[in-house]
Amino acid sequence: MFATTFPYRRILYSLVSVLFLALHLPRTIAQTEPLRIIVIGAHPDDCDLCAGGTAIQWAKMGHQVKFLSLTNGDAGHQTMGGGALAKRRRAEAQEVARRMGIAEYEVLDNHDGELVPSLEVRLQVIRRIRRWKADVVILPRPNDYHPDHRNTGLVVQDAAYMVIVPNVASDTPPLKKNPVFLYCQDRFQKPNPFEPDIAVNIDPIIDKKVDALDAHESQFYEWLPWTMGILDQVPTDPVERKKWLAKVRQRPIKEEVRSALEKWYGEELAATVENAEAFEICEYGRQPDDGTIRQLFPMLRKPRIIRSKPVTKPLKIDGKLKEAAYSQAKKIYLKNSLTTETVSDKAYQSYVQVCHDQNNLYIAFTCFDRDIHSSFTKRDEYLWKEEAVEVFIDTDQEPDNYVEIEVSPKNVLYDSYIVDPVNIDIEETLKFNLNGIKTAVSVDGSVNQRNDEDVKWTVEIALPFRELKADFSADQLDNYQWKINFYRINQDQSPLKYLAWSPTQGSFHQPDKFGTIVFEKTLPKP
Ligand SMILES: [Zn+2]
Repeated sequence: MFATTFPYRRILYSLVSVLFLALHLPRTIAQTEPLRIIVIGAHPDDCDLCAGGTAIQWAKMGHQVKFLSLTNGDAGHQTMGGGALAKRRRAEAQEVARRMGIAEYEVLDNHDGELVPSLEVRLQVIRRIRRWKADVVILPRPNDYHPDHRNTGLVVQDAAYMVIVPNVASDTPPLKKNPVFLYCQDRFQKPNPFEPDIAVNIDPIIDKKVDALDAHESQFYEWLPWTMGILDQVPTDPVERKKWLAKVRQRPIKEEVRSALEKWYGEELAATVENAEAFEICEYGRQPDDGTIRQLFPMLRKPRIIRSKPVTKPLKIDGKLKEAAYSQAKKIYLKNSLTTETVSDKAYQSYVQVCHDQNNLYIAFTCFDRDIHSSFTKRDEYLWKEEAVEVFIDTDQEPDNYVEIEVSPKNVLYDSYIVDPVNIDIEETLKFNLNGIKTAVSVDGSVNQRNDEDVKWTVEIALPFRELKADFSADQLDNYQWKINFYRINQDQSPLKYLAWSPTQGSFHQPDKFGTIVFEKTLPKP
């Protein structure tokens, strides 16, 4: 009896869950295979300094990062040494992994200061790159002041081809695809200086990187200051000590790195970056093109900025968008949120325009649509299950809290306040209400007549600033910035379902992918 019913039930469950996933795509993370990255350094702290900020961002996006230290760090201290020091440094490394949120931090038991590029160490490295099934391997360059760093560079380079050779370390299955090997940034000029092919902006998580480095007590508060003769400058208070660490570790961004930032993030953002990590593509291993680099480094994104110009008179919210403000406001087009492609089918193009006065942010959506429909009639019904436009606005520095607004073609409103984008308690978020919001919809076509052909629907929203931010005052507005994203859900014959200004390639609830709205100071010319 059980033997026959059990599999059916399982199939039924999986069908139900597939259906559930399909219906709820914008609410769940539809992630492709996570990337697998291994960073290899000589000492427990080398990986952290070289790629810690990038690793934190990978880990946050659900990718698997492993740090591997080839020595146990048992030499670098003025008063401790040997096994006791190795034990301490291994424990510090584990704490770093926890603070960074990375998958693993392994510390091999080779002696500090004595690493040689031996066959034995090469095999240790080959096996670890293989077991990790690495897509990316990060290593130091083989020119460096420290013999351990230099030899780590040599050993990993020597492994770069061997990881795919089945008869080398034949107890560990070889990789089918050669990883991309990338060098860490260093300052050494001879025989050739470091060339930044990739630069990652780590400003958004710099505090988290410093917090992780802070776990290396024996290194950053004892040994390194002692070697530099500044041990007496290290504050004893833990909070002050961390601030001090942030200051001594801050490095000015070199011109070449700034140029790389411009390439990957665009000039406007690149000009503002204060902390970056850069990498050079190693000639051994797979050679990535720019598209592959963007896949391997999903944090490299040109930021989206929408500028809101001020209007002198409040707008009439009728959904018609007849005011002069809209003929002047720039149209920003939504893209296919899953593929990030521009929408080429004119019948489904959608754009957003914004402007503001002293009290309100005005948002207008124009959605071309062959089949406009919606069965919802009551506020806070689950509009995203049919057709809707959506605005997510984050008014503070906390990335996980933001307001979600949706409007249907029947001008039904859904307003909620998200506190945890990964586990959304929908009913709880719906207790939030924007009492002063005004919305209107105008339709060129017929809502819910499914057999005729419609043209478009336009949505106009007036959002009182004070409802978004209790302590708001209009004199703050000049060049004021909030994080924002605009979406549209379309449910009809068209394959185009999920549209976004800043595409998320999965759940809409990814605040790190929001764009920025800037409130401009200058009045528009009459
Ligand atoms: Zn080191």
